[in-house]
Parts: sequence; C-alpha cells; structure tokens
Amino acid sequence: MKKVLWFRRDLRVHDSMLLAIEGEVLPIFIFDTNILNALEKNDKRVSFIFEQVLKLKTDLKALGLDLALFYGTPLEVFTCLKTLGVSEVYASVDYDSYAKERDAKIAEMLSFHSLNDCYLFEPNEVLKKDGSPYLVFTPYYRACQALYTKFYALEYNKAEQSLVNFDCNALWCIQDGVKTALHVKLESIGFASLHVNILSPEKALEIFTCKVDAYAEKRDFLDEDATSHLSVHLRFGTISIREVVRFLVYLKQQGHATEPFFRQLIFREFYAYLLFHFPKLAWENYKYAPPISNDEDAYTRFISAQTGYPLIDAAVTELLTTGLMHNRARMVVGSFFTKHLMLPWQKGEAFFAKYLLDYDASANILSWQWCAGTGIDPQPYFRIFNPYAQSLKFDREADYIKRFLPQLHDIPASCLHKETYLMSHDITGYPKPLIGHESARKRFLSEFSRTH
Ligand SMILES: Cc1cc2nc3c(=O)[nH]c(=O)nc-3n(C[C@H](O)[C@H](O)[C@H](O)COP(=O)(O)OP(=O)(O)OC[C@H]3O[C@@H](n4cnc5c(N)ncnc54)[C@H](O)[C@@H]3O)c2cc1C
Repeated sequence: MKKVLWFRRDLRVHDSMLLAIEGEVLPIFIFDTNILNALEKNDKRVSFIFEQVLKLKTDLKALGLDLALFYGTPLEVFTCLKTLGVSEVYASVDYDSYAKERDAKIAEMLSFHSLNDCYLFEPNEVLKKDGSPYLVFTPYYRACQALYTKFYALEYNKAEQSLVNFDCNALWCIQDGVKTALHVKLESIGFASLHVNILSPEKALEIFTCKVDAYAEKRDFLDEDATSHLSVHLRFGTISIREVVRFLVYLKQQGHATEPFFRQLIFREFYAYLLFHFPKLAWENYKYAPPISNDEDAYTRFISAQTGYPLIDAAVTELLTTGLMHNRARMVVGSFFTKHLMLPWQKGEAFFAKYLLDYDASANILSWQWCAGTGIDPQPYFRIFNPYAQSLKFDREADYIKRFLPQLHDIPASCLHKETYLMSHDITGYPKPLIGHESARKRFLSEFSRTH
C-alpha cells in the first residue's frame, strides 16, 4: 500500500512521526497556491520555507528517501497522486480554518491519518471532569502537568521505509490536471529569494542554555535578549516540540529553573487547543464586542510606525524590518491598537499575519483577542497598558526604541518615556503623539460603558 507522507508544519527528519510510518512511502511538500496567491512576492516566510524544504529534501536523501515537490492546490495534487495508486495520506495536525477544510476535502478522496506531531497534547485529551474544554489557562496548565509523563516527549525513530517510484528531480506544477516540470528554485513559483536571518534550532537551544535561569526575570525586558527565539522553528516544525521538552528535562536535571519556559510552551498548546474547540474565535469575539472607531488615518499612522509613541513605533519597525517582534512589545502594541486607537483586533491580527515570520493562526488570533479583552481568558477590558510606563519599565535606557527609531538617537531616554516632552517638542523626522494617553484611555472606557 503506497502512503503519502505530507510534510507541512514538520519540516525535519529528526524525531518525525511521519518517518516512523512503515512501508512504501512518498514524502511530499506542496507549495499551496491557495495560500501563496494571497502573499506578496517578496514574502520572507516563503524564502524561509523554501530553504527548509530543500534542507529536508537533502536530509531525506541521506536516509535513502527523497521529497517530491508540488506547486498547485492540494486537491489537484492529490487527484494526480491518486493516479499513481496512492491510497493513504499521513500528515500532522493543523487547526486553522483553512487547514481543517483542506484536510476534510482530502479525507474524502483518500484515507487520511492525522498525527499529533506539532503539540504535546491532543485537544480532546485535556478536558474538565464534565468533558468540556478548559476556558482558563491556569487550570488547563495544571491538568497538563498532571497528565504529563516522559512518554509524551519520547523520540520517534525512523521506520523501515522504501520510496515510491516517482521523479523527485523537478518541482511539479499541477494546474487544470496538467503536470509541468519546473526547476527546483524559488523563482519558478514567482517568489523572490531573500535572506532570512534565523538562528538554527541547534544554535538557539545551545544559547538558551545560558539564558534559562534568568528567563522568568528578564523575558519582558525589551533591551535584553532573554528569550529562546524558537517560535519560527516551532511554527514550521524545524524542531520537534518533544525535543524542546527533552532539552528542558535535561536542563532541569542539571539544576536549572525550567518551569517558566515550560509554561510558555503550554501557552502555545492552550491557544491551539482553544482554536480547535472554538473555531469561531478566528473571527468572532468570545466575550463582547469592543467599541470600534474605524479611524483610517490612525490605522495608516500605526502601520507606518508614525503614531508618535516611541515604543509602539519601534515595535512596528521591528516587525517590518525583521519579521519578528518582542513578546512584551506585541502585548503593548495589541493593547494600544485595540484600546487607544479603538481599531478592530481582526485588523491588527491581519497586519501581524502579513509580516510575522513565526505567524501561527492560533497564537496570533488568541493573543490579539487577549489584548482586546474579547477572547477566552483575556486581559480585562479595563486594563489599558500605558505605553510610556511600559517603556520606562522594560526599556529604561531606550536602547530598543533607539535601535529601531534611529531618528530618536540624540533624545535623552527619560524624555522618550514622557508624553509631556513628546507633545511639546518638535523632533526632526518624528511626529507628535497622535492621541494623548489619558484621553485615549478615557475615550475607550466611556465608549465601553456607553455600549455595554
Ligand atoms: C498580539 C500577539 C501576537 C502573537 N502572535 C504570535 C504568533 O503569530 N506566533 C507565535 O509563535 N507567537 C505569537 N505570540 C506569542 C509570543 O510573542 C511569541 O511566541 C514570542 O515572542 C516568540 O519569541 P521566542 O520564541 O523567543 O519566545 P520564548 O519566550 O522563548 O517562548 C518559547 C516559545 O513558547 C511559545 N510562546 C511564548 N509565548 C507565547 C504566547 N504568549 N502565546 C503562545 N505561545 C507562546 C512560542 O512558541 C515560543 O517560541 C504573540 C503574542 C502577542 C501578544
């Protein structure tokens, strides 16, 4: 029986559930036109994925296998693969709405096996006594801790596999039932090949060994490099979640403090879990509808890093130039966008989705709903971060602000945390704050009480 191993969010050979499936197999990767057609041609994520796919192909060859590459819709690709006598598909889970619909369609054509290779726990494994899903993180976290045994982090070894006879030397474009061979390069599918500066997972883990003890204390500081930088690798599965956990277990045995970091990994699980159980969260508020202004000018100033709030503009510049944003900055930006500017969280979520290298539907959507106060277990609606107080606390010397906003280089750090200074001084190349913090806070709260 010929089996397709469909690599998607698991672009690695080490500790791979797909490679633990025995038999005659065809590993594949699909450059999905349903997704790619909506992206700009210089999207850095496509370059990153392409690079990882080529690495995966090389690593599979070293194991006596190969990777067949396709460009088209999954439906067309599987229609074509069916003609080769393929009868089964194995793929790791994906919980966003497009992925669920896509997999359901493929499951109508072929026997489809979902593997829980992106997360430690399956969504239906961690439930309350009455069988319903947890809605609050802390009890969910405790339930995960109670459930966890070393078996959850065991490494998957490669099974006996032989390769289905298929020409893996081309990138196969499948369109309207016609199969065309393309050169295996990014330009073949119309995308620019860009350099993406991401630490390898091995290097990221090695460096994190020196950071883990101070993680809880320093992770919020914008000018400290205190976090793991694993999000992109966890997103695309270039490292296995089980390997990260085994690494933590090892560090714990060496006497390191690993619990705060483990908690963040469980946050990742919790958000995927919530999106699985409540798919409407992708577009609907769970708690209430927040007040909305739909101020286009404010949105334009926000996305071009011109709000006049140094921390917000530095964070947006970080996103636009690196494809990443510090977690504390994401939290303050999300609050500012939804509360100071009263813009819909869905619009902020879409802006992040366009630029984040680690974009993950569940983490992004649920985090935006958290910031807006609209989600399950969110930040209360009346908690409104003061961006000046946040930068004073987490970027006292304004190193982060000045790194991304060089036009503020000569302004003393203390002035960049003071609205009175920013409102009353002309700074070359930098605008005045588009709205005062206190008036924005009062506007949001009064609009909230007027509408609820
Ligand atoms: C508005 C907003 C949007 C976000 N969008 C995304 C997103 O699209 N993709 C994404 O991976 N993370 C997202 N996050 C969570 C977090 O900001 C990033 O995971 C983190 O900054 C990545 O850096 P790191 O790998 O060094 O994190 P570390 O601090 O080293 O954390 C380790 C891992 O834990 C997970 N993690 C950490 N914090 C969170 C969190 N709050 N929620 C879920 N998982 C978490 C990530 O997989 C991360 O790689 C978002 C947070 C906010 C507030």
